[in-house]
This record gives sequence, structure tokens and C-alpha cells, in this order.
Amino acid sequence: MTSLPKSTDKKLGLVIDLDICVGCHACAVNCKEWNTGGHSAPLTDYEPYGKEPSGVWFNRIHAFEVKDEQQKQPGRTVYFPKSCLHCDDAPCVPVCPTGASYKREEDGIVLVNHDICIGCKLCSWACPYGAREYDEDEGVMKKCTLCVDRIYNENIPKEQRKPACVSTCPAGARHFGDLNDPDSDVSKMVDKRGGFDLMPEQGTSPVNKYLPPRKTEHKLTELTAVEDGGDAKGVLNWIDKLLS
Ligand code: SF4
Ligand code: SF4
Repeated sequence: MTSLPKSTDKKLGLVIDLDICVGCHACAVNCKEWNTGGHSAPLTDYEPYGKEPSGVWFNRIHAFEVKDEQQKQPGRTVYFPKSCLHCDDAPCVPVCPTGASYKREEDGIVLVNHDICIGCKLCSWACPYGAREYDEDEGVMKKCTLCVDRIYNENIPKEQRKPACVSTCPAGARHFGDLNDPDSDVSKMVDKRGGFDLMPEQGTSPVNKYLPPRKTEHKLTELTAVEDGGDAKGVLNWIDKLLS
């Protein structure tokens, strides 16, 4: 059994804004690109150009159709990026029989030591989020490292020392920082927007937070037919006036 630290000095993690994620997958692709040459290299692919491509991806984007019946708002698509949440009470760590899975005391990042992982998959059974990725070719477990080989990398410019997914998001939906510091930008964002934990009932205390989609005020425009001689209202009337 592997122990979790009682507390961590920092809680480095991601804050993901579900209101503005557009589901473009740029974060997932750049994650794959960076990590396939980094700490967890390679991220194995099977049939990448075939009919059923599969392989190791640390970041996966799910899409949901959401309808708020009570508010009578029109349905909307919510894109939901998911990777390891670097939980404080990570159930994937204590189940590891070799000590390969561990949480770092200095920054809270949960990692796998591939040299001593025996590929028993107990950690992936324990993770309630499905965030672990088994590499069939190498016979070891892999997962998001929060780009540990990038955020501390002194060989790259300072402004690039953030996870690849954060640096590439074209919509600015992903943020990175210390969630243990109440004055950090990410902590303030979580306070202001009501950031929430994914599946809190699991008792894992995830470090990553999600910002909820904002309520929309869309009203369906009334389409009213324009009748001869009538005083019809609405879009059709507006078009009619415009064209006449
Ligand atoms: Fe472990 Fe899953 Fe939590 Fe990541 S999300 S720390 S893999 S339990
Ligand atoms: Fe530990 Fe590897 Fe087994 Fe996961 S698959 S529990 S990291 S030995």
C-alpha cells in the first residue's frame, strides 16, 4: 500500500470553464503532442489512420446535450474536457501495491513511476473518473502529469511553463495555478464563478475545478407570418419591410 501525503505545500491544478469551452479538441491534441515526447513517452497509438483509431490520450473531451426544463431555456451543448484531477484523497494511490502511483508533497501532482509499475490496473479500477490510461504496448499505467516536464522546465521561455492544454486552448477556457493559494488567479476565479468539484460524493477532493456554464437568456424569436393588409409582427415582417 502506498501512502498519500497528509497535506501538500501547493495544489497545482486546472480550472476549466465549461461556459466557454467550444469542444475543438486543441487541448487534447497538444497534450498528446507534448506528452508523446515527454515524461510518459510514447503515448501509444493503434491504427491512427485506420477505421477505428485508439490509443493513449490523457485528455478527452465529452459532449452533452443539456436542457433546463424549469427555466424553459433552449437546449445547449456543453463540452466537458476530462483528465486526471490530481485528487487530494486520490484512491488510485493507496491501492498501488508497488508504490508506482504517488502524490507529490511539494505540489500535489499525482504521478506514476513507470519503472516500478507492474501494470496490475488496480489504480484504474480505483479511479472513479476513468482518468488512467493503460499502455498495452509498454504494460504500464499512464495519466496526465500536469506537464510536470514543462511547468518546471527552465529550457523553455517562462510564459510557456504551463500545461500544454492550457497554452493551446484558443478560447481561453483552461487555466492553471495553485489552488492552495487563496490569492491566485485560479482560486479567485473559482470563488467568483462558483467553481465545483467533479462528483464530490466520491470523497476524492479533486484539485481541478470546473466553472459552470452561465445561464442564458435566449428567447426564441416569434416567427409571425405576414398577411396581406395585416399588421403582422416579428422577423418575417421585418424582412418584408426590408425588401419592399
Ligand atoms: Fe487518481 Fe483518478 Fe483522482 Fe487522477 S482523477 S488522482 S487518477 S483518482
Ligand atoms: Fe500501481 Fe501500476 Fe498497478 Fe497502477 S497498474 S496499481 S501504478 S503497479
